[in-house]
Amino acid sequence: MHSPMFSLEVFPPKRNAPVGTIYDTLDGLEGVDPDFISVTYGTGHSADRTATARIARTIHSEYAIPVVAHLTAQYLDYRQAEESLTMYRQAGVAGVLALRGDRNPDQEPTGVFAHASDLVSYISQIDPDLTVYGACYPECHPESPSRQEDIRCLKLKVDAGVSHLISQLFYDNEDFFRFLDITRKAGITVPIEAGIMPVTNAEQVRRMVRICSSRVPRTLNAMLERWSDDPRALKEAGVIYASEQIADLVAHGVDGVHLYTMNHPVITRRIWSNIQPLFTTTESAQ
Ligand code: FAD
Repeated sequence: MHSPMFSLEVFPPKRNAPVGTIYDTLDGLEGVDPDFISVTYGTGHSADRTATARIARTIHSEYAIPVVAHLTAQYLDYRQAEESLTMYRQAGVAGVLALRGDRNPDQEPTGVFAHASDLVSYISQIDPDLTVYGACYPECHPESPSRQEDIRCLKLKVDAGVSHLISQLFYDNEDFFRFLDITRKAGITVPIEAGIMPVTNAEQVRRMVRICSSRVPRTLNAMLERWSDDPRALKEAGVIYASEQIADLVAHGVDGVHLYTMNHPVITRRIWSNIQPLFTTTESAQ
């Protein structure tokens, strides 16, 4: 275990990608020492919990790294949720990240799990020993009517059984510090990992602005403008920007950092080599 915690996120390769792609990612992460790796779960047409379970099993059994499997709930019924949890258990997961998932306009939600907290309550009921993680939003979830309402719902989710939160990505640490302050005042005391997504290209940032309403601070905006026609330079600047964000977060005593690798092992390794000395290794909690 590290202090603060350090974790990574990977996603299952697309259905038409070569089978070995995930091995390229995981092999490429050699030398990076995360406390756990989380594996995302596709939503809508790309939903395939067997893919998440298979990759979780690989990470657990072949790479001996603790793994957290994501599960999005709004299109599941009880039977499918239970099947997924059984599959994840058999894959050896250390925990499940319980999510509602994004809305898919082509699919009607089942109405069984309207919010992530419904899935959290269900897991706490049928598998009380499973560690449940939850998502949180330093810049407020885009669908929330207000910050206050978002935090109220977050508290409900934690009270339902979430023992560890991982944040949406953000580009300005001040947003995260403000959020931490509000959550702690609201009585949410579980560890909160800060989600960092290194900038790899300008389109990726535009996408995050569109989907997550992420705010782009002046420094990052300048980087995007300056190196809009030079992807290599932008990637280099992205490594520096993410490393500096993490150094500042650690200096401020955050509980942990969750790096969205986007399955880019080289960038992840570069960042880890910059920040590794900031993470103290402690006795394993396993
Ligand atoms: P919820 O916690 O249900 O919140 C969604 C909205 O509903 C918020 O506005 C909240 O304030 C509101 N709300 C919550 N509870 C209540 C309530 N009881 N009453 C009224 N309103 C309520 N998506 C994927 O498809 N696959 C993934 O693997 C994935 N991984 C993610 C990992 C992280 C760390 C994060 C931050 C996000 C991830 N997402 C993933 C995206 C996520 O699915 C979306 O952000 C989704 O829109 C919300 O999911 P949630 O679990 O946070 O939902």
